Amino acid sequence: MDKAKLRITEMQVKKTIENLKKNNIQAYFVHSRSEVAGKVAELINEGDTVAVGGSVTLFETGVIDLLRSGKYNFIDRYAQGVDTRQIFLDSFSADVYFASSNAVTMKGELYNVDGNSNRVAAILYGPESVILVVGCNKIVPDLKSAVRYVKQISAPANAVRLDSKTYCASAGVCQGIDDDNMTSGCGGNSRICCNYVVCARQRVPGRIKVILVGEPCGY
Ligand code: SF4
Repeated sequence: MDKAKLRITEMQVKKTIENLKKNNIQAYFVHSRSEVAGKVAELINEGDTVAVGGSVTLFETGVIDLLRSGKYNFIDRYAQGVDTRQIFLDSFSADVYFASSNAVTMKGELYNVDGNSNRVAAILYGPESVILVVGCNKIVPDLKSAVRYVKQISAPANAVRLDSKTYCASAGVCQGIDDDNMTSGCGGNSRICCNYVVCARQRVPGRIKVILVGEPCGY
């Protein structure tokens, strides 16, 4: 990364980590994707029951490979022939649940938008511990910016990835991009933005942990 870009990224990460910690969300920083799996291995125990929400970041950073290493009891949603609904229900009792976050604000909030919503449900309640791996491309100043980031980048890219028949999958941007209202968007049953979740100060200190990565990951 360019030195100036690295410097401002580090400043933004520092502020974000400070404010996440004020919200009882534990936070860590690693410089590169290649360091993520090692950090994850430090935070969990061999034999833990682990589950994941849908996330490109977890593949890009080697977390899925780590969870498949045989050291953990992985409730693998990607395994062939699994009953997906049962997997999602079983995930609520995992020791550790992994996902990314659609955005993280420098004020210390997590912002997630979900369609099926098994991911946001498990982030909020169930697993003893939640570890979110988040690339520096998802750090935004505040919730207003988070809403726009999801409408401009996260949701359209996910709609393309999932081959969803939505406005954004063909237009490249949310139908509600110019509307300040958080939930403005397309109609139709293919919509992937159904539930909008903000995590602020947590009651259980450290249940949610965020690993910020000094490289872009996912979207
Ligand atoms: S509301 Fe619809 S158009 Fe907007 S990002 Fe979500 S799926 Fe795409």
